[in-house]
Amino acid sequence: MISLRAVDKHFGALHVLRDINLEVPRGQVVIVLGPSGSGKSTLCRTINRLEPIDSGEIRVDGVPLPAEGRGLAALRADVGMVFQSFNLFAHKTIIDNVMLAPMKVRKAKKEEARTRAMELLKRVGIADQADKYPAQLSGGQQQRVAIARALAMSPKVMLFDEPTSALDPEMVNEVLDVMVSLAKEGMTMLVVTHEMGFARRAGDRVLFMADGQVVEDTDPETFFSAPESERAKDFLGKIL
Ligand code: ATP
Ligand code: MG
Repeated sequence: MISLRAVDKHFGALHVLRDINLEVPRGQVVIVLGPSGSGKSTLCRTINRLEPIDSGEIRVDGVPLPAEGRGLAALRADVGMVFQSFNLFAHKTIIDNVMLAPMKVRKAKKEEARTRAMELLKRVGIADQADKYPAQLSGGQQQRVAIARALAMSPKVMLFDEPTSALDPEMVNEVLDVMVSLAKEGMTMLVVTHEMGFARRAGDRVLFMADGQVVEDTDPETFFSAPESERAKDFLGKIL
């Protein structure tokens, strides 16, 4: 479903992604771990082309991502992304936030978009907040809206970049629960997270990154109980 071949990326002199090769089959939930600055966010951002790459190739569902321009909006629509900051439109209601992209990009009719948006808000447990504005919701609720908004485009893949890092502790689980249910429904997901409970519970696979490289690529149980590299042992020693 996601395929990266020999992907390289620099920011000036900084080599942030080094020869990344990765095949993520449909329905797999990949947890991305690694120290700060190792390239986790950059990896996510290249997959939906928020960041161009220097060389290599990225395919989503077999389709190579175009460098830019034509086709980019449609391809990006196949890849939903949820960030640490919720990035909702502050001056639009919750339901309008969820309806906007399907109408603009997918050319959905207004009533269709509204019906689907309500379904998605129900699914993430906040249908009763539909007519409020983002600032009237808690962080956990806003992040669930962000997930519903991404799902409204019927993405083939969902990327999550530290979706719970900005939340108060008591709100973390309500967001993780939505992600667990998505995983169970078979969504292909790439999740950068420090939530190790979630990683063990929902992850099929762990990628451990350091210095722009994938240093370990294994199942969660093996990674947490028997990491191979010194970098991973060091990392786990700090967070567990
Ligand atoms: P964190 O855990 O802190 O979120 P990360 O693994 O997500 O870290 P990235 O954000 O991918 O790391 O950053 C990788 C490297 O690229 C870092 O050294 C960072 O400073 C640098 N970097 C990221 N974005 C840019 C940018 N737009 N311009 C220049 N350098 C950047
Ligand atoms: Mg990051």
